[in-house]
Amino acid sequence: MRNAPADAAHYVFTRDGTPPKDLLQIGLAQLEPYGVVVENKIVTDAAAIGHSFVLTLGNGRRVESRRVVLAIGVEDILPDVEGMRELWGGGVFHCPYCHGWEVRNRPLAAYGKGDLGLALVTLLLGWTRDVVLFTDGPAGLSDSQRAQLARHGVPVREERIERLVGDGRHLREVILSGGETIARGGMLIRPPQRLRSDLAHRLGCPLREDGRVEADEFGKTPIAGVFVAGDAGPGMQSVGAAAASGATAAAFLNHGLLEEEFA
Ligand SMILES: Cc1cc2nc3c(=O)[nH]c(=O)nc-3n(C[C@H](O)[C@H](O)[C@H](O)COP(=O)(O)OP(=O)(O)OC[C@H]3O[C@@H](n4cnc5c(N)ncnc54)[C@H](O)[C@@H]3O)c2cc1C
Repeated sequence: MRNAPADAAHYVFTRDGTPPKDLLQIGLAQLEPYGVVVENKIVTDAAAIGHSFVLTLGNGRRVESRRVVLAIGVEDILPDVEGMRELWGGGVFHCPYCHGWEVRNRPLAAYGKGDLGLALVTLLLGWTRDVVLFTDGPAGLSDSQRAQLARHGVPVREERIERLVGDGRHLREVILSGGETIARGGMLIRPPQRLRSDLAHRLGCPLREDGRVEADEFGKTPIAGVFVAGDAGPGMQSVGAAAASGATAAAFLNHGLLEEEFA
């Protein structure tokens, strides 16, 4: 699961504060009565053959199916800042709705350049009045953006970040090149992403500008019989949204199969 580095998942209906691995176990256990076969293997290839698909598993076994749901998720590409990976999912977080409450009213950091940096600051100002924007190099901000930040009392630090210092999973300090240390209790960042596997590419699914798989509101991709659910598709990236898009894709997939059989 993408949130595996976090101790707990928040912003999840009825499961607030549940460790991600427990969420997975609950989900798997609830499949048991339905006789669902779970193959804990990497799918290394997928190809359309006539009106069906052949998936190749890591152990070489081939599985045939009439439909495919790509629930492959995305990978976050973290910047090369010392200490960031260790704090990812704790003191460094990507979603203010999942992990903002835990750092409310603390001095916080936004990490990003240009419009993205400004957007992250805006989100953090909902949790604290003490925000510093770190751009880790030239800020790429217009004069009016800088004036806006100044109006909200948000300093912009364009120096390279040398490292982040944590206290266990909590961020404590941002150390800038040159040695200046700025105390911060959390950092919001939105790193670029890529799909976790090339299966969408192998199946010929068009991607959107943001690299995620193009699909309609039911998860249907432009490739007949291929659906997408969760972070890999359009829409909000969260546990609840992934579950909702998975349930939607499953229902429409099943409906399509029944229609096909009926016809
Ligand atoms: C640090 C962090 C903390 C987060 N905290 C929260 C939170 O508190 N609340 C919240 O709502 N959201 C949170 N999120 C977002 C949440 O984790 C995702 O939105 C959610 O996990 C998306 O689910 P998914 O099933 O689409 O993708 P994923 O959880 O990424 O799962 C995709 C799965 O597909 C598997 N896979 C990929 N390719 C293949 C292949 N070829 N063969 C077989 N398997 C494959 C992967 O191994 C993975 O297990 C957090 C994200 C991060 C990064």
